[in-house]
Amino acid sequence: MKWTDRKLREAMANVEASLAVEGLYVTEEDRSLILASIKGEITHEEFLRLAKERAMRAGEMPDNLYQEARKMTDRIRYCDECRCEREAVVKQRNAIYSFRKEPFDIIEEYAECTVCHNAVSDEELDNKTLKKISELYELKHR
Ligand SMILES: [Zn+2]
Repeated sequence: MKWTDRKLREAMANVEASLAVEGLYVTEEDRSLILASIKGEITHEEFLRLAKERAMRAGEMPDNLYQEARKMTDRIRYCDECRCEREAVVKQRNAIYSFRKEPFDIIEEYAECTVCHNAVSDEELDNKTLKKISELYELKHR
């Protein structure tokens, strides 16, 4: 799934609306945390850790915030093996890619189905890998 600015704003608005119903209001800090998580700038683990830290500082438990944000940030991907949508986890592996006829050895992030453990396609991670390779290429040919 690709997050456009519009989709991000919609997702944020949904979280805020459902929290407002419960009498909770999203602070600027929450908002930037959720956004970073949706955009993949921080990992899900980081997000939960930071959200917990913030909750402890504030002396409140924003369980609703966790739950809502979790739904949006969990990687639900189509698995070709299972032939349905599954939860996926991000893993790392060594890979060699050929870019403009040159081999590049990198550590890439990929998504894995939590049920059958096969790799599932993930546009966001694919883009990240591509960016990494082209950066290496640029570095080499500067
Ligand atoms: Zn699967």
